[in-house]
Amino acid sequence: MGLPDLEVKCWKCWGCGVLSFENHGETVDCPECGGVGWIPTEDGKRLLEFLQRHLILGDEEETPGLEV
Ligand SMILES: [Zn+2]
Repeated sequence: MGLPDLEVKCWKCWGCGVLSFENHGETVDCPECGGVGWIPTEDGKRLLEFLQRHLILGDEEETPGLEV
């Protein structure tokens, strides 16, 4: 079990992805994490790049038959 932390909970919205104003009932997307609620660490960014690279490549390959 040696996976490094790939993401950390956003310190600004605490994983909610939105910020709420105490005086209003409104919420806005958290600017810090872009509304995701989590921020990728250096390791997470590397994994994202890895996935994007291989998912995009995989898209151009023939799609395996998953219908059965
Ligand atoms: Zn946030």
